[in-house]
Amino acid sequence: MENENNNLKAGELELINSYTRRTLKEDEVYAFSVVLCDNETDRDFERFSDSALKKLEKLFVGVTGVLDHDPKSNNQTARIFSCSADKVSGKKTSDGRQYIRLSARAYMPRTESNKDFIMQLDSGIKKEVSVGCSVAKRICSICGCENGLCEHIRGKSYNGELCCKILDEPTDAYEWSFVAVPAQKAAGVIKSYKKGENGLDIEKRLFSGEAESFTADEMNIIAEKIRILQEKAADGEVYRRRLEAEINKLAAFALPQLKRDVLDFITDKMNAVQLENLKKALSEGRENSIPIKPQLAVAVKNIKTDNNAFKNI
Ligand SMILES: [Zn+2]
Repeated sequence: MENENNNLKAGELELINSYTRRTLKEDEVYAFSVVLCDNETDRDFERFSDSALKKLEKLFVGVTGVLDHDPKSNNQTARIFSCSADKVSGKKTSDGRQYIRLSARAYMPRTESNKDFIMQLDSGIKKEVSVGCSVAKRICSICGCENGLCEHIRGKSYNGELCCKILDEPTDAYEWSFVAVPAQKAAGVIKSYKKGENGLDIEKRLFSGEAESFTADEMNIIAEKIRILQEKAADGEVYRRRLEAEINKLAAFALPQLKRDVLDFITDKMNAVQLENLKKALSEGRENSIPIKPQLAVAVKNIKTDNNAFKNI
């Protein structure tokens, strides 16, 4: 939030009045500047491409924003009447690129009900803004692959280079709002998505079982969700393999007669919770059993063999 002034700049009243039902006078309007987003990598390891910011410049004009999520204040709104992606001279992004930010000018009518909010803006109380928009492309910063079709995982480093998803080719900008809690300063851009025409979100529609088509944007969202689930599944697989290895070791003590392929057949059909339970049962069984270690038995056997060999000389 730049609290430079609430006075209109030259030509701004005309711009504002192109959005209003009746022509407003200068003293009936309150205008302010707001930084919507920038080309810095956010906490989700995503960032807008410079060209995406340039496109958003046009897409955000005319979009209304929610100023206050407090239900008591009737959700005050303001409308963006101009927007520009500007290079900030001398400022670099954390990875050394030219810093570019998307700044907007927004207006709201001066009314009794938004008096307090205007006062907050005037007093320079800093509030972060989040935006909602959809993009056609999410590009891997490591290999340039689009929409999650490569093996690179955002947030991980590859040869010292941090992998992130570059949000490119925005198709729609549909909301902006002040983040209610100032502590969420780093919240950055919220990549929320529009609900479908029937009011259900994409996931519910996907699982509703009813034949329905999805837009290209929605398909991208679904692809990204699958990608995130694949990452989580890979972590789960590592955990499962570790559990199975521990069970194999414990079973070798507790059930030495049990063939390995039989054990594999059983564990294959178990979920992680059941595997955990089996591991616990085997390790407790081991604690209660006679403390002879197979390694020790093998060692004794080896010594015997050695002795025999020695005697035979
Ligand atoms: Zn990649």
